[in-house]
Amino acid sequence: MEKTKLHAAEEKLKAIYGYDCFRKGQQAIIEKVLDGIDTIGIMPTGGGKSLCYQIPALLLPGVTLVISPLISLMKDQVDALNELNIPATYLNSTLRSDEESIRHSRIKEGYYKLVYVAPERLNHPSFQQLLKHITLSLVAIDEAHCMSQWGHDFRPSYLSISSWLEEIPQQVTVLALTATATTQVCQDLQQFLQIEEQNVISTGFERSNLTFQVKKGVNKKKFMASFLASRKNESGIIYASTRKEVEQIYHELSSVGFDVTPYHGGMNEQERSKGQEAFIHDEAKIIVATNAFGMGIDKSNVRFVLHYNLPRTIEAYYQEAGRAGRDGEDSECVLLFSPQDVRTQTFLIEQSDRTNDRQEMEYKKLQQMTAFCHTERCLQQYILHYFGEDTSKTCGKCSNCVQTGEKVDRTKEAQMVFSCVKRVRERFGKTIIAQILVGSTNQKLKQLNLTSVTTYGLMSDWTQKDVAELIDILMAEEYITPTGTSYPTIQLTEKAVQVLKGEVRVQITESLAPVQPEEQDDVFEVLRKLRKQLSTENNLPPYMIFSDKTLKEMSRYIPVT
Ligand code: ADP
Ligand code: MG
Ligand code: ZN
Repeated sequence: MEKTKLHAAEEKLKAIYGYDCFRKGQQAIIEKVLDGIDTIGIMPTGGGKSLCYQIPALLLPGVTLVISPLISLMKDQVDALNELNIPATYLNSTLRSDEESIRHSRIKEGYYKLVYVAPERLNHPSFQQLLKHITLSLVAIDEAHCMSQWGHDFRPSYLSISSWLEEIPQQVTVLALTATATTQVCQDLQQFLQIEEQNVISTGFERSNLTFQVKKGVNKKKFMASFLASRKNESGIIYASTRKEVEQIYHELSSVGFDVTPYHGGMNEQERSKGQEAFIHDEAKIIVATNAFGMGIDKSNVRFVLHYNLPRTIEAYYQEAGRAGRDGEDSECVLLFSPQDVRTQTFLIEQSDRTNDRQEMEYKKLQQMTAFCHTERCLQQYILHYFGEDTSKTCGKCSNCVQTGEKVDRTKEAQMVFSCVKRVRERFGKTIIAQILVGSTNQKLKQLNLTSVTTYGLMSDWTQKDVAELIDILMAEEYITPTGTSYPTIQLTEKAVQVLKGEVRVQITESLAPVQPEEQDDVFEVLRKLRKQLSTENNLPPYMIFSDKTLKEMSRYIPVT
């Protein structure tokens, strides 16, 4: 690439956007595009993907077409460009036909450098007619993961893009951009767009200014109230999974004086955009929303994203959480976990009229999302591994890196679980395994002739729920893996075999051990503090003061006042 082209790009960056230097990845992508090479650009949310096509658009002859799924945001995006004196416009179904034809003629005159369209438009006869009269230099596909069935947000309208590209007679450069490409999604994109490996530019997915936390077994309402109370002047997003839940949280928070606005698909267009505008312009500090909110929104000073419920996939989670800290300042991402949310999501997948293959994939993704909540690994690292990035670096600040709970040796219990799985020849799932181990009198066990298994009743001093939770943790740490979907069964991995042989010990962080019923949280916490105090005073490990189980039993019998 010639120096002059890069120089010209840098000049635009300064003169138009007022930025001093390119961010990671931007320069490499812009260089490829200016050299006419088809490219895939992968950068995290907030990484600065828009500049990667906007600056080339200003330097290349003719028009840059931007394909985007976000009809509701096209106007905002175009307005923002116009404010920078960049001639841009959009074509979509919200335009009246006279307005549309005015825009068509101005596009033909060569007035606009950028034209935003939704993928549905590509095959409109009028649009194809228009194309005959203009020079297309660059086609930018924003949110390109929507092309892949393996993406978490597949859109059938995106499928037509690759055949459309093949059919257009003009020689154009293609730039596909996304923040959420797993290895599989990236391979799909390469295949659809015929882009070679060396033209995939990925900056990696790391967001070092974000601190991830998973909170389990907390009373969600109380946690949220105290979390927000200590962040009074900060802007943040609260994601909940249903409209009903959004409404409830909204009413609760506004009734105690929080500056909050709701957002979900059940509200009408006008109400929604009013809320969105208020949030973006800092008139409302907090937005409580379903996942309908956020794609393509560029608000830089979001200081926290709180997930009140479990999202369905890591991709969705990371994209939502990634809306915090676009300005690069430290920001928090907190996920409140409850097992009930897993059941709700499983139910929703069951109810969906998707094909079996698709459902199977969704179960798997949900399982990986659940494992994120149970893992002991660094949370940022877990996400990076999920997206295929091989790293051993830990973030040093997520709720797993900063451990508050003590490690407890659960080798013995893990061995019991593994031998039970082995005894039943890996033919059963979590519930049955837990029932066998606690010695449940459930009729089904009798019918299946499982009460005579040698591991029956081996953990009779545990509750079934706690054993199930332990199994979840062992699964998150990949000692065991689920297989099958409609009747998931559990299989041992090589790691479990080593534990059974006594070669590897299983250490579990105490705070990850069995979850409390919500009402008893406070009592449990008070008791835990007391234990900690006793343990320091007497210089004994906490479990020698009293075990987790005792702690829990005690908190169950002490009334909440
Ligand atoms: P995304 O990758 O999520 O599409 P955007 O393109 O919306 O991200 O950019 C996110 C923010 O980063 C915007 O506010 C943008 O102005 C800013 N930004 C982009 N590039 C730079 C840069 N080189 N220097 C400083 N800020 C930048
Ligand atoms: Mg973007
Ligand atoms: Zn970490």
